[in-house]
Amino acid sequence: MSTFDSKHAAGLHRHIHSHLPSDAALRVKTLESLAVEKGLIAPETIDAWVEAYSEHIGPMRGATVVARAWCDPAFKARLLENGTDAIREFGFEGNATGHLKAVENTDDTHNMVVCTLCSCYPFSILGMSPAWYKSAAYRARAVREPRAVLAEFGVDLPEDVAVRVWDSTAELRYLVVPQRPAGTEGWDEERLAAIVTRNSMIGTDRVLRAGAA
Ligand code: FE
Repeated sequence: MSTFDSKHAAGLHRHIHSHLPSDAALRVKTLESLAVEKGLIAPETIDAWVEAYSEHIGPMRGATVVARAWCDPAFKARLLENGTDAIREFGFEGNATGHLKAVENTDDTHNMVVCTLCSCYPFSILGMSPAWYKSAAYRARAVREPRAVLAEFGVDLPEDVAVRVWDSTAELRYLVVPQRPAGTEGWDEERLAAIVTRNSMIGTDRVLRAGAA
């Protein structure tokens, strides 16, 4: 027989109320409700956009581009020369990648992307940007103390590896091409794309692992 535990119920109640959405989430919800109420947009349209960016576009598109660059030196050269033209070969051009610059990690250089002003991000190939990318702390600290930020992401960067921080704008977005991990010789592009993490294409992840696929 079950009994009603009022203390437990009160605890649950408090717990649920402690998980109210953040101010930003509430503001977004308010704007969404107003736009729907005024007939400017249908709720299904909003759902479809969110689903497209979170489930279908990113970060798989970016991973596909990186995998191709690992397998095809001529494509990599085109990508580094002109990112926008190169991703057009996949039909991936779109909002926020009209001007895309790809930057390649090497043994002695690590690249990291930020938008110090707001939250510019290559949505059409990486999908929704993570919350931390938009945070004031990341935006300020990525430029001031990139090595400390990288350490917090678990990237242990040797002192002799230089860090280059790229500040995005509405006109220019960046894609980091991480290094291809050892042990992936002979892999096809699909298998390679599966081990490319979103953070590695922003630069807050560096060493990818063959075992991750
Ligand atoms: Fe921005």
